[in-house]
Amino acid sequence: MTRKAFRGEILSVVHDPRDRPDAVRHEADGLLVVDDGIVVARGAYADLAGDYAHVPTEALTGLIVPGFVDAHIHYPQMDSIASHGAQLLDWLERHIFPAELAFADRAHADTVAAAFLDELLRNGTTSALVFPTVHAHSVDALFEAALARRMRITSGKVLMDLGPEGLADTPLSARTETEALIRRWHGRGRLGYAVTPRFALTSSDDQLRTAGGLLAAHPDVLLHTHLAENVLECAAVAARFTESSHYLDVYDRFGLVGPRSVFAHGVHLSTHACTRLAESGAGIAVCPSSNLFLGSGFFDFGQADAYGVRIGLGTDVGAGTTFSMLHTAGLAYQAALGRGYPLDPFRALFLATAGSAALLHIADRVGGLEPGQEADFAVLDCAATPLLARRTAGASLAERLFALQIMGDDRAISRTYILGQCAWDKAAAAFPTCD
Ligand SMILES: [Zn+2]
Repeated sequence: MTRKAFRGEILSVVHDPRDRPDAVRHEADGLLVVDDGIVVARGAYADLAGDYAHVPTEALTGLIVPGFVDAHIHYPQMDSIASHGAQLLDWLERHIFPAELAFADRAHADTVAAAFLDELLRNGTTSALVFPTVHAHSVDALFEAALARRMRITSGKVLMDLGPEGLADTPLSARTETEALIRRWHGRGRLGYAVTPRFALTSSDDQLRTAGGLLAAHPDVLLHTHLAENVLECAAVAARFTESSHYLDVYDRFGLVGPRSVFAHGVHLSTHACTRLAESGAGIAVCPSSNLFLGSGFFDFGQADAYGVRIGLGTDVGAGTTFSMLHTAGLAYQAALGRGYPLDPFRALFLATAGSAALLHIADRVGGLEPGQEADFAVLDCAATPLLARRTAGASLAERLFALQIMGDDRAISRTYILGQCAWDKAAAAFPTCD
């Protein structure tokens, strides 16, 4: 057994501060003790130092927080980030589908998967729910690269039998390929599987039914798709599925709405949809940078809270404009305020860590740095830029955290640890465990 300890300022928010006033856990001078990658003790250094005096201890400068959990991101779109001039449906046709066609080449998928996971690590993100492409080997490429980095990644082949030429599968191939991928990958290392229909418009009724069957047959995999992102998309869904009373109801009729369902966006939700989301236990991955970039709108935090809808945070790269969950938290604040809701910085940290982990059903493993959890964490640098240093000098914890969210990005991640091992070191510009 390898035991080591980390000393520094530690902050985590395991519960939603909206529900629990004691949700914030903070040690100004803390100690985190890790056995073989698992947290075994955490507390004030003064309280624990005696018990762990002989454990090799690394002093970390900065704010130690749980590794970020990105609840919605597309790895094949990382090189399409910042593509100009179109809302969702046009943007998919013009920029995204051509880029995803290139993933027919396994070597291309391998190259992008490696760069993608490294970029997550550079941004302090240690777990993610990821869209690959329709190609089964795009899942293999991602999972192999994640296994090598020991990251907690959930993904699943995209189902899209109504997709454009070269990107369309069939209900039958969707079923057989998904079944094979679940057998090959689900539960291996830290990997998990998600049945992943792209969205309602890119699958036939037959294929949506197939997705529901897959979900029913595999009670521990997730369902990952998009919901009510853009007004033109919502109109097209309403025009095709005339028997459904609202967008979520389309998925519901095919058995795709339940506690294991993660829906990205949910910008345009009816009250019926919110009621059904809350009673089913399904969650929304809120993606503010993407919603701003594609002109989709602002997620309604007030409405979600009023109905008790579970939420987390996602970047949604490549419609999202950043891999940084810090920056995404800052944009969530701005999007929420646009609808009159002042998002608390501790709640934003919760959504970016334990909240997203709960959506992904991995909150028992990551997101809180609690004893028994895996030691995935990021070290935030409040002096990453001269202006950030000025703004945070002498500031309270809440002020520093908020400044990091509004002004911070990958520059503010000085280190990222996976299972207690440094996996990104900004000062050395190195990925030590991967070298
Ligand atoms: Zn997306």
